[in-house]
Amino acid sequence: MQADFVIIGSGSAGSAMAYRLSEGGKHSVIVIEAGGTDFGPFIQMPGALAWPMSMKRYNWGYLSEPEPNLNNRRITAPRGKVIGGSSSINGLVYVRGHAEDYNRWEALGATGWAYADVLPYFKRMETSEGGEEGWRGTDGPLHVKRGPVKNPLFHAFIQAGRQAGFETTEDYNGSKQEGFGLMEQTIYRGRRWSAANAYLKPALKRPNVQLVYGFANRIVIEDGRAVGVEIERRGVTEVVRANREVIVSASAFNSPKLLMLSGIGPAEHLKSMGIEVKADRPGVGANLQDHMEFYFQQVSTKPVSLYSWLPWFWQGVVGAQWLLSKRGLGASNQFEACAFLRSAPGLKQPDIQYHFLPVAISYDGRAAANTHGFQVHVGYNLSKSRGNVTLRSPDPKADPVLRFNYMSHPEDWEKFRHCVRLTREIFSQTAFDHYRGPEIQPGEKVQTDDEIDAFLREHLESAYHPCGTCRMGRADDPMAVVDPECRVIGLEGLRVADSSIFPHVTYGNLNGPSIMTGEKAADHILGKTPLPRSNQEPWVNPRAAVSDR
Ligand SMILES: Cc1cc2nc3c(=O)[nH]c(=O)nc-3n(C[C@H](O)[C@H](O)[C@H](O)COP(=O)(O)OP(=O)(O)OC[C@H]3O[C@@H](n4cnc5c(N)ncnc54)[C@H](O)[C@@H]3O)c2cc1C
Repeated sequence: MQADFVIIGSGSAGSAMAYRLSEGGKHSVIVIEAGGTDFGPFIQMPGALAWPMSMKRYNWGYLSEPEPNLNNRRITAPRGKVIGGSSSINGLVYVRGHAEDYNRWEALGATGWAYADVLPYFKRMETSEGGEEGWRGTDGPLHVKRGPVKNPLFHAFIQAGRQAGFETTEDYNGSKQEGFGLMEQTIYRGRRWSAANAYLKPALKRPNVQLVYGFANRIVIEDGRAVGVEIERRGVTEVVRANREVIVSASAFNSPKLLMLSGIGPAEHLKSMGIEVKADRPGVGANLQDHMEFYFQQVSTKPVSLYSWLPWFWQGVVGAQWLLSKRGLGASNQFEACAFLRSAPGLKQPDIQYHFLPVAISYDGRAAANTHGFQVHVGYNLSKSRGNVTLRSPDPKADPVLRFNYMSHPEDWEKFRHCVRLTREIFSQTAFDHYRGPEIQPGEKVQTDDEIDAFLREHLESAYHPCGTCRMGRADDPMAVVDPECRVIGLEGLRVADSSIFPHVTYGNLNGPSIMTGEKAADHILGKTPLPRSNQEPWVNPRAAVSDR
């Protein structure tokens, strides 16, 4: 097995690269994937999203170490283990991120990744249905749309935002990412439009692309150059050779793990594991960032929520309708309204994200309230808390050690308390008068800072957006792992391109930014001139200095 480019991981970034690197037929590409097929309704039916994210078959199933600020709870940290990676098990929400996110990347040393640089790549990758003209892609592989927005609770949420004095936006992925609006979904013709469906499967139709199902143990390095990947396949250890380059796209937990197993990482840690040091890069595994969120749930006094559809029989009806027609409730992820708000005056960009759901239920579907209800997933998205990923053992099969240090920055507590109080303000608007019953959680008794903190300690969850563990930066930055062309600093023939290279977590969900990273990395790998910078200026709230709305 040998190819010009060997990509480890067929996830959001890996699939996009397989597609772009093989375009034109000049270069051969092998993609190595530890998971299996994405066939079947659990993955393909958007409404079934709670299933694949909790199924062992599709998920690496990691847990954090006990988190000291969260009552020592071990937080679930799912990652896709299937073609399409996490884009095959995610919530299908599509958010590009705010312009300031990418300007921050550049300020942190990722030269050439400012908003003006990445906007053309977001356009190249998308086919947007209903997005803002001039700001969105029209012929890219990734189809993006809005839901049918039939449930009156979605409209109540947006109206409540307006009543509270916040902005609304026609397209938060366009010029204006602030305010209440309709949420976008990676769904096409009723199916989950994962990176596998959008990029990998079309790429595999080309003769120069091959998918190899196997578990990558380590990168083979000879004389300071990556020359291949050692994999385990059906119990046999083999090497996949790379004529030109190896590209690691195994995501924020497994990319640093693979580098460390290959001798690239903090020297002391590698030595303590008995691993020969090939490159002392202390930044490998550091800078772990994530988004946290909690569910704010309210009883609905009108029987309009999705609660009626939760019994098995009705879920079967939804599934059957979807199988026959690709329509109905099964064809949406039910996240159809959202908000992007600033937590305080004086902020350059919004920092609190709302997903609205017309039912009161946990993300993985396991805990549903026993009543009609509605909820928001709400969280502060620009936390300064940082964690790390380290090796548990030199055995490639061992789970990595994940320490997030969630809520270790005092500002996190302030911001999350604000999320509780702000949500109460939004739900108390007259738009919800017809629907608002008692608060399910946090619950009306939770009022003081101490009470809110106790609630948060017990109920905060990951929003599943880990990133930053092979951080991109200047080649002379000792904590950077890859340079702005995604080359691993200190070695030849090796790149990392996926959510692990983000210098800073973006605002919003991470699938879009991960795919964009794969798109742009492909141009760097091929030595192409990057797409011309955009001169479009995003909207800035004229009241930003004096008001949070
Ligand atoms: C449950 C869940 C819900 C989410 N919801 C949303 C959402 O609604 N919207 C959104 O935008 N984002 C969401 N995200 C986040 C988003 O999907 C991810 O951030 C993004 O897909 C990460 O892309 P990636 O390319 O970094 O890695 P991934 O897509 O995770 O790809 C990594 C790939 O590498 C493979 N791999 C890893 N190790 C090895 C190995 N040793 N050998 C071979 N292959 C290996 C994996 O199996 C996987 O296929 C969610 C994530 C999860 C887990």
